[in-house]
Amino acid sequence: STRIVLASRPVGMPEPVNFRTETVELKDPVPGQVLLETLYLSLDPYMRGRMSDAKSYAAPVPVGGVMVGATVGRVLESADPALSAGDIVLGYGGWQTHSVESVSYLRRLDPSVVPVTTALGVLGMPGFTAYAGMRNIGRPRPGETVVVAAATGPVGSMVGQLAKLSGARAVGIAGGPRKVALLTDTFGFDAGIDHRAPDFAEQLAAATPDGIDVYFENVGGAVFDAVLPRLNSFARIPVCGLIAGYNQTELPPGPDRLGLLMGMILKQSLTVRGFIQGEFAPTQTGEFLTEIQPMVADGRITYLEDIVDGLDQAVPAFQGLLTGRNLGKLIVRVAG
Ligand code: NDP
Repeated sequence: STRIVLASRPVGMPEPVNFRTETVELKDPVPGQVLLETLYLSLDPYMRGRMSDAKSYAAPVPVGGVMVGATVGRVLESADPALSAGDIVLGYGGWQTHSVESVSYLRRLDPSVVPVTTALGVLGMPGFTAYAGMRNIGRPRPGETVVVAAATGPVGSMVGQLAKLSGARAVGIAGGPRKVALLTDTFGFDAGIDHRAPDFAEQLAAATPDGIDVYFENVGGAVFDAVLPRLNSFARIPVCGLIAGYNQTELPPGPDRLGLLMGMILKQSLTVRGFIQGEFAPTQTGEFLTEIQPMVADGRITYLEDIVDGLDQAVPAFQGLLTGRNLGKLIVRVAG
C-alpha cells in the first residue's frame, strides 16, 4: 500500500518537499479491527495545523508520521462480527491507500440513502461544524442578518442554508465571480460578495443595510476588518476558523488594533466565542444527522464537492484549499 508522510514541517505554504510517499506492506487486522481500502480522503483546513508543532487543540502529526484525515473506505478483511467485507464506512484512515482501523471508530454508511462522499462534507465534520456553531453560538432569529465567508465551502454553505432555514437574511462572501454567482444561484444566499473586489467593504455595507447580527468567522484577516464596524449590538461571532492566517509566519504589519476590537466587544455587547466542533460532536451528532440527512437526501440542502483523482494529487489539492482553488468540499478519490 502507498502512504504520504510528513517529511518536514512547512514554513508558510506547505510544499511537496514537506511530504514523502512511501510503499509499505499491508497489515492484517487483529480482533476488533478491519482492513480498509481507502475510497475517498477528505482534505480539510485543520490539516495545516497538524503539520505544525505550534500549541493547538490537537497533537501535531510527528515528522515521519502518516498525514491524518477522514476517509471513506471499503472493508477488505474483517476481524469483527459488526462489519463484513464490502461494507462502506466512515473512518480516519489518513493519507494512504489502505488502513487498519478499530471497528469502534467507524460509522457504517448506506450508499442507497445519500452518496457516501457526503459523510466527509455536508453530512460529516464540516457540515456538523456549521450546525454546531449556529445552534450553540450563532442562534439566528427571523429577520436577523447572518454573514459568513468561505461561503461556497462545506462549512460556509451550510451556515448560509441554516441561516435561511431560521428565517434570517444570509450574506455570503467568497473569492472570485464564479464562486460569488453560486452563492445566490445554488445555495440560496440573499447576497453574495467577492472579498477580492477592491470595493469589498462598500459592497458588504450595501448588502447588510440593517447591520450584522451573526458573523460566522471562517477566515479572519481583511474580511473581519470589513465586518467589525457593521456588527449590531448583541451580535454573536462563532469563531470557527481563521484560514487567512494559517500560513502566516509573522504578525501582519500595521498599528495594534486590539484596543479597537476590545472597545467594540464592550460597547456593542458582542459575544465572541471560539469553538472546536469536537466539543459538541458527542452530544449533537445524532440530532444533526436526524435533522439534516433527510434534507440532503431530498435536495432541500444543497452541497458542492470538488473531487480530485489520485492520492498523488493530495499535496497540490491541499495547497489549493489554502488559496481558494477548490470549489466546494475538497475530496481525493483514492480508489473506486
Ligand atoms: P473550504 O472548503 O471553504 O476551503 C477554504 C476556503 O477558504 C477557500 O476555498 C477560500 O475560499 C477561503 N480562503 C482561503 N484563504 C482566504 C483568505 N485569505 N481570505 C478569505 N477567504 C479565504 O473550507 P471548510 O469549509 O472546510 O472550512 C472553512 C473554515 O472552517 C476554515 O477556517 C476551517 O479551518 C474551519 N473549520 C473549523 C472547524 C472547527 O471545529 N472550529 C471544523 C472545520 C472547519 P474563497 O475562494 O471563497 O475565498
